[in-house]
Amino acid sequence: MAERIIDLRSDTVTKPTPRMREAMARAEVGDDVYGEDPTVNLLQEKAAKLMGKERAIFLPSGTMGNQVAIKCHTQPGDEVIVEASSHIFNYELGAMSAISGVLPRSVPGRDGMMEASQVREAVRPDIYYLSRTTLLCLENTHNMAGGRCMPVGLSRELCSAARGLGLKCHLDGARIFNAAAALDVEAREIAEPFDSVMFCLSKGLSAPVGSLLAGSEELIVLARRFRKMLGGGMRQAGILAAAGLVALEDVVPLLADDHRRARELAEAAAQNDRLEADPDKVDTNIFMVRVNPPLDARGFALGLREKGVLVSPISDSVARFVTHREISDEDVGRVSSILKSYS
Ligand SMILES: *Cc1c(COP(=O)(O)O)cnc(C)c1O
Repeated sequence: MAERIIDLRSDTVTKPTPRMREAMARAEVGDDVYGEDPTVNLLQEKAAKLMGKERAIFLPSGTMGNQVAIKCHTQPGDEVIVEASSHIFNYELGAMSAISGVLPRSVPGRDGMMEASQVREAVRPDIYYLSRTTLLCLENTHNMAGGRCMPVGLSRELCSAARGLGLKCHLDGARIFNAAAALDVEAREIAEPFDSVMFCLSKGLSAPVGSLLAGSEELIVLARRFRKMLGGGMRQAGILAAAGLVALEDVVPLLADDHRRARELAEAAAQNDRLEADPDKVDTNIFMVRVNPPLDARGFALGLREKGVLVSPISDSVARFVTHREISDEDVGRVSSILKSYS
């Protein structure tokens, strides 16, 4: 009963590491609205380099990063191509319409991945009474597809199809470092075909707050205006950026372990006839478990909660599991035996 709660709801539950706390306490700071916070500036330079872009900007959240990017790339009345189960389309409160006045055109992908022909078909022809399609948004890794990661070749192909029709390309790379670890490439290779890329420090990277948007010099100058417009200009934000710098150094190298642990959990779930999971589709730290009747996902989550394990039901029949830095091999052993015998 006194056993520790094992929280597999999300990698956002990770708390700052002791080294992050120390770095935050010691951080040199200034007023970032004046561009004078040395720690924020250092993080932005590092992020730009990691993404292979000219410049980057620190923002309070991934949602703001995505929405600022959309605002930079579009004009009101434009259409934006999004994958049907993407975060930008489903979990950002219709922000692209509310903030940028643009319409999402959703395209269903397989495992969250569209095909180039689908992108071409979704672009509206150049006729004066049609809205203009000006932006393609992709997501890698893909959260709701179960942390699947898109091969670099496919994102190149999709971006080049879009670019050929005059579109810009934005990557929601909230978990780009998970994708990089899974594909065994540098993050900048994944970011390369895109005009802009957003990534989060506050997911599996365990920093308390913050995301970065990287792109060309010109794009980031504009992004800085829109960040301020949306209320995202922060003052001594170096306190937060300091944790982000530690995250990039200390936590990125641990992500592959999260992936291995997720796979082990999926293998355990797959051994239970009442549950369905496909370990071969576990690319990164997220996977889905389908719950067979008479069980349902909400009841399954409640049953696990009684055993000290938290997961997220995302529909009547599917629960999402997410591993992260605070989930140990011992935790995986405990949850695996619970999953194998769950009834
Ligand atoms: C979490 C997440 C975001 C948004 O990040 P917040 O910091 O929570 O606003 C965007 N895209 C994906 C794929 C995410 O998982």
